[in-house]
Amino acid sequence: MEACYITTFRCNAHCLMCDIWKKPPGDRKEIGHELLEKLPEGLKKINITGGEPGLRKDLLEIVSTLHKKTNKIDISTNGYFTERLVEVGKKFPDVAFRISAEGFPDLNDKLRGIKNGFDRALKTVIRLKEVGVQNVGFGIVISDKNKDDLLDLYHLCAMMGIEFGSSTMHNSFYFNKFDNKIEDIDNTVEKMYKFIESLLQSKRKDIKLRIKDWGRAFINYGLLKHIQGEKRPIPCGAATELFFLDPYGQILACNGSETPWIMGDLKEKSFNEIWHSKQAEKIRKTVAECQRNCWMVGSARPAMRTYPWIPLLWIIKNKIKLVMKKNIWC
Ligand code: SF4
Repeated sequence: MEACYITTFRCNAHCLMCDIWKKPPGDRKEIGHELLEKLPEGLKKINITGGEPGLRKDLLEIVSTLHKKTNKIDISTNGYFTERLVEVGKKFPDVAFRISAEGFPDLNDKLRGIKNGFDRALKTVIRLKEVGVQNVGFGIVISDKNKDDLLDLYHLCAMMGIEFGSSTMHNSFYFNKFDNKIEDIDNTVEKMYKFIESLLQSKRKDIKLRIKDWGRAFINYGLLKHIQGEKRPIPCGAATELFFLDPYGQILACNGSETPWIMGDLKEKSFNEIWHSKQAEKIRKTVAECQRNCWMVGSARPAMRTYPWIPLLWIIKNKIKLVMKKNIWC
């Protein structure tokens, strides 16, 4: 299974689509990296996220500890704290970095509410590459506000030979936001179709990145369905294929629910006790009945891994359609 560690709810950015930074911390203390020793070994992947994980002064220790639990770590960051991120990249060049970019400089800084945010993010990408990190890329949260920059940003990433991840706006306790809505739905859908076509027809020189683009075409197909209020292309495996660890040591099913679905507290119990508890079973039943149809990479990727033939057939079918000059099926 995969894990996602929310290092902090604090954030230096003030994004339009996320109010995580407004979450009052109260008197709760973020857990230290020592508690991460309690996580199981052999995890397929661990995503380190926030808030902004670059705000954690012990980020290097966090990565060192989690590196013993998995050989695949990725960090989702806004890239603002270049030095701290580069320090991690230098010691662990196998860690992947996804750096938020909502569009080109003006638009990015407006949507992220952060001065010089794009410049800092780009500098972080360059510096990480310089110290030998292989898997670096931008990540965009697609909305009606940045749909016009979507394709150009993808082409920029392709030109730079870096990755380009995408997601879309969700409403949940995690984002502390419940009124995200795409206004200009028709034009956004049209731009996304074009983007998905470009991914399926990827011209990247690096074959690995080209194949990844095909996989991302399927992820974006799921995003398109979410935007249009349709069902997920693959059922959600939260609390079975994946779990979240929040900044205070609680094991959660996912980050898409309206309120946190807590399976147990790692400060009080071992991971195994939590994972096999009655409370965990109760949460799994709630997940089985969940109709929220989130499609975020945290739950989409494990689902694609569990049912690999679904994205594979979709990719083959749509590549054939494009060769025959027909519209892709979404
Ligand atoms: S669809 Fe999955 S990720 Fe979303 S709220 Fe339901 S269980 Fe959580």
